[in-house]
Amino acid sequence: MVKMYYDQDAQLDVLKGKTVAVIGYGSQGHAQAQNLRDSGVHVIIGLRPGRSWEQAEQDGFEVFEVDEAVRRAEVVQLLLPDEVQAKVYQEQVAPHLKSGSALFFSHGFNIHFGQIQPASNVDVVLIAPKGPGHLVRRVYVEGFGVPALIAVHQDASGHAKELGLAYAKGIGATRAGVIETTFKEETETDLFGEQAVLCGGVSELVKAGFETLVEAGYQPEIAYFECLHELKLIVDLMYEGGLANMRYSVSDTAEYGDYSSGKRVVGEASRQAMKEVLKEIQNGTFARNWIEENRQGRPNFQRLREEERNHQLERVGAELRRMMAWLDGKKKEPVRS
Ligand code: NDP
Ligand code: MG
Ligand code: MG
Repeated sequence: MVKMYYDQDAQLDVLKGKTVAVIGYGSQGHAQAQNLRDSGVHVIIGLRPGRSWEQAEQDGFEVFEVDEAVRRAEVVQLLLPDEVQAKVYQEQVAPHLKSGSALFFSHGFNIHFGQIQPASNVDVVLIAPKGPGHLVRRVYVEGFGVPALIAVHQDASGHAKELGLAYAKGIGATRAGVIETTFKEETETDLFGEQAVLCGGVSELVKAGFETLVEAGYQPEIAYFECLHELKLIVDLMYEGGLANMRYSVSDTAEYGDYSSGKRVVGEASRQAMKEVLKEIQNGTFARNWIEENRQGRPNFQRLREEERNHQLERVGAELRRMMAWLDGKKKEPVRS
């Protein structure tokens, strides 16, 4: 049975007298730092000069260069993009990390794939909110929390888990529930989820449906509404009550079509592909490719991003959304899952 922790399992006192350095002030950084501060924790921010630095100062934080923030802290939470963490860690974190302090992550990638190998005298803990940063902040302000995962990679102090739970409480996660996992499980399932289902799977499903209708001569605007716009309404129903809740709400005709055609669209070939995707995550092929892509300055990533931006679906959607005034201001800066 899965192990869950709630508010009563965590003591904020564990963080009393300690300084938490949140390194990075992007999607997760701004949310976790502000939630911790509102929970009474002493938080400072570590950054390089730039946009985030200005924002963090405007939000009332003390901001330091990364090395200085690390020197001042007993808990260091690394909230930089995963692909820059190893370099910043080696140059600006490791040399200043105090013995007996704690190194925190919100995604296990760099520890699990061996890009960061911390000294044995620090705790290494994962607190991974299962939601984008903007939600982590908004839900906390509303008095609730986004669920999170906790994992301990290294317990030098003998109190790594208590410290992790205190941190999770500080960001509001124990209000919703914190699930115990390992760096391996969090990393592999997170990568699989975003590749096979949430980002990769859904994007291709939407595009394939759109293209099928347009190629058959239907109007692109209609295809956009059917294959992309309505997806949100369906996903909201799933989120609130599972697949059954969605099927309860749609017509019986839609429900019958779901049973009779869904398995043809996502059939054996797709399941086989999912297994291959999972294998390449597990054996490190995906991580190696992504690290190498970054080393070369991201040529493929940039090309693919440009190609996808110019897809007909995106152009049609941009036009249609301009008519939907209620969507104004809803568009967020890109976030990672
Ligand atoms: P963002 O890209 O939103 O923010 C990154 C931050 O790091 C920015 O403040 C950026 O500042 C700063 N930064 C980048 N490079 C450097 C550098 N060389 N030195 C100092 N600061 C730097 O990251 P996320 O919040 O999305 O991701 C952080 C971590 O959280 C990752 O491990 C990610 O996997 C994890 N995570 C993210 C989720 C999300 O919702 N986004 C969900 C769950 C986990 P600048 O303005 O100077 O570029
Ligand atoms: Mg319909
Ligand atoms: Mg992810």
